[in-house]
Amino acid sequence: MIPVVKTKADRARFYGSTKWRNLRKAILERDHYECLWCKAEGRLTTQYDSILEVDHVKELETNPELAFDPDNLRTLCKECHNKRHDRMNYRGQPKKRKWDDEFDIL
Ligand SMILES: [Zn+2]
Repeated sequence: MIPVVKTKADRARFYGSTKWRNLRKAILERDHYECLWCKAEGRLTTQYDSILEVDHVKELETNPELAFDPDNLRTLCKECHNKRHDRMNYRGQPKKRKWDDEFDIL
């Protein structure tokens, strides 16, 4: 089943769904609750260091058919996730609020 994720309400529904929440947990477990980008740089960032988020490599809006594909999902810490989506301005402040509903505190 391909989810329709176009509006903010769609996103909220998607990220609140049982299917997503279960899969998200499975991805966190698969990635050993570590940020993969930090890990690639030799740093260990876990849920005790930051907030871990599960990122869609190919984005939900453009590739909804990959929404539940584990190969399209990865664990990132909040900082890396923000960097990825360019959500911070030059002062490190949140630039826009579009993605806030995606944040999911453990
Ligand atoms: Zn990170």
